Amino acid sequence: MTPSRVPGPEVTRPAVSRRRFLGITAGVGLAAASARFDRGVGPLLVRAGDQPALPARPFTLGIASGDPLPDGVVLWTRLAPDPQAVGGGMPAPPVSVRWEVAHDEAFRRIVKRGAATAEPDAAHSVHVDARGLGAGRDYFYRFRVGDFESDIGRTRTAPAADASPSRARFAFASCQSYQDGYYGAHRHLAAEEDLAAVLWLGDYIYEGGVSPSAVRQHEGPEILDLEAYRRRYATYKSDSELQAAHLAHPWIVTWDDHEVDNNYADDLAQRDDQNPADFLARRAAAYRAWWEHQPVRLPAPTGPDYKIYRRSSFGDLLTVHTLDTRQYRTNQPCGSSVDIGVPCADVDAEDATLLGAEQRRWFFDGLIDSTARWDLVAQQVMMAPVSFAPEPANPVINLDQWDGYRHERGAVIKALAVEPRNPVVLTGDIHSSWVHDLDAETSDASGTRTETVATELVGTSISSEFPFSEVVTVAIGSQPTVKYFEGTRHGYVVGDLTRQELRADFRYVSSTATPDVVVETGASFVVEDRKPGAQEA
Ligand code: FE
Ligand code: CA
Repeated sequence: MTPSRVPGPEVTRPAVSRRRFLGITAGVGLAAASARFDRGVGPLLVRAGDQPALPARPFTLGIASGDPLPDGVVLWTRLAPDPQAVGGGMPAPPVSVRWEVAHDEAFRRIVKRGAATAEPDAAHSVHVDARGLGAGRDYFYRFRVGDFESDIGRTRTAPAADASPSRARFAFASCQSYQDGYYGAHRHLAAEEDLAAVLWLGDYIYEGGVSPSAVRQHEGPEILDLEAYRRRYATYKSDSELQAAHLAHPWIVTWDDHEVDNNYADDLAQRDDQNPADFLARRAAAYRAWWEHQPVRLPAPTGPDYKIYRRSSFGDLLTVHTLDTRQYRTNQPCGSSVDIGVPCADVDAEDATLLGAEQRRWFFDGLIDSTARWDLVAQQVMMAPVSFAPEPANPVINLDQWDGYRHERGAVIKALAVEPRNPVVLTGDIHSSWVHDLDAETSDASGTRTETVATELVGTSISSEFPFSEVVTVAIGSQPTVKYFEGTRHGYVVGDLTRQELRADFRYVSSTATPDVVVETGASFVVEDRKPGAQEA
């Protein structure tokens, strides 16, 4: 094992994009040359005479698609002519938003069209579940309000349930602290990758206040109520690189802690001195704002309890199990409210959980029922045992990840080990890149090996900093289940799946200090069919 290994560069530049058509400059580009947006078809939920005039172009936060099915996809936008103003600068009444889906980018071959109502209590967001589409196909979509037209997005439906696709490509990414850097990774993800979906593993926003010394600043202090969470999403979603990544691909989105509060566990705030009742009110606001800003096929949340774990299938090749390891978890063990600590007996507590009983049952049932060649588990915190200390005899672990919840991890590993299956766990959270063998017995990080039953790929952050790079580089040398570690670079991972193998390419940007970057593939690993554990490609 050679940690921090960076093979020869495979440099590509977004400037030579195949997908340059996805211009993100407002109101220009191919939209101007395309067929006119239809004005006369589709139910007008708000009658034309009642439609309030908008003060400016309302598509400042972009458009998005997500949760692809064989016959449909969710189309999202939020109207916000003045994104940082209360209510996004929208007049109070509901507004009718027209949408179109076409085979072609010029919108000459329209497939579906309709109208949705942007309601003020949903921050004038819309979630259109566009159905009746063909399986496994690319589509283009756009929105219109009055004379204002959105940019044009590309999306793709999932293959038919009974299809046997020979290949699927996806990317996974997480952790885009706005103040830590720019999103050159998203620009490249949009311009250079041909994907069935982007799997977002959490930390879409960060809840903290302004860092004056950062490369760019949050709009205000730590966010606690609905209006503040909406403004924070408006800050993030105003980023043109992020908008480009949504324009180019459908996303399947889950959350981690920073969508609410760092290291929260169920109703327990960690960083802030909030009692559970106040924290649950905050959680309800945060969950509501999350739904308002994501292209998800989920009902609007009405309180602090909100089920987002779900499954996505891509024919018989791939099933994605998307988990939520925050909402139902028991508190971090060993009295710690920080991440890194010395393990105590609590890490083996039988009632400690990251999933909660109901989600765990749903997850295990789904694994048993799955007939897919590959089962991807899209989740948040690192599952493999890892000591962050250079001395193997004196382990120091991350109590916020599965190392703090070892009993439940054992049950998950058993569930993943059931044949015939290729389980691959996808992880975010830790702002660094790792590849792990998941062994049948994972009770310690001492180096004792047992049978490898699954693989874990941990993707680095889009922009968020990893503070422990040098410590960990020293520490992992003696940990043989760790196949790869890289702790200084940012980007995302592309997974290229065939029936024979999963190839994972770790894409790294040259910088987060500027959005103008080059990207190289810093490492590649392969997991072969029915052969758990990754090998260097
Ligand atoms: Fe993060
Ligand atoms: Ca955290």
